[in-house]
Amino acid sequence: MAEMFKYEEGMGYAEVCRGHGIGSPEDLDSALWDYSQLADQASEMIKHFGTAMEPRLSGGLVLCPSCGKQVLYWNRYCPSCGRKIGWKKKRS
Ligand SMILES: [Zn+2]
Repeated sequence: MAEMFKYEEGMGYAEVCRGHGIGSPEDLDSALWDYSQLADQASEMIKHFGTAMEPRLSGGLVLCPSCGKQVLYWNRYCPSCGRKIGWKKKRS
């Protein structure tokens, strides 16, 4: 009975793989590699666009902490690279 379940489970996975164009172990390796690359890129993007960094000050200009291009105080994101800018709260 347990063997039967494993067989059906395996056939289910095989069906899912075929549905994604994965027909061989090499295809599966390639798909998993692509997936891990995408996961790395996604976490890099989340960091870049979702985590605010304080801008740098240099020669009276306010600069993006990521790319070093000028940002203006109304920019929530760097116009050059898209980095989320974390402005300090105004002192009251
Ligand atoms: Zn930038």
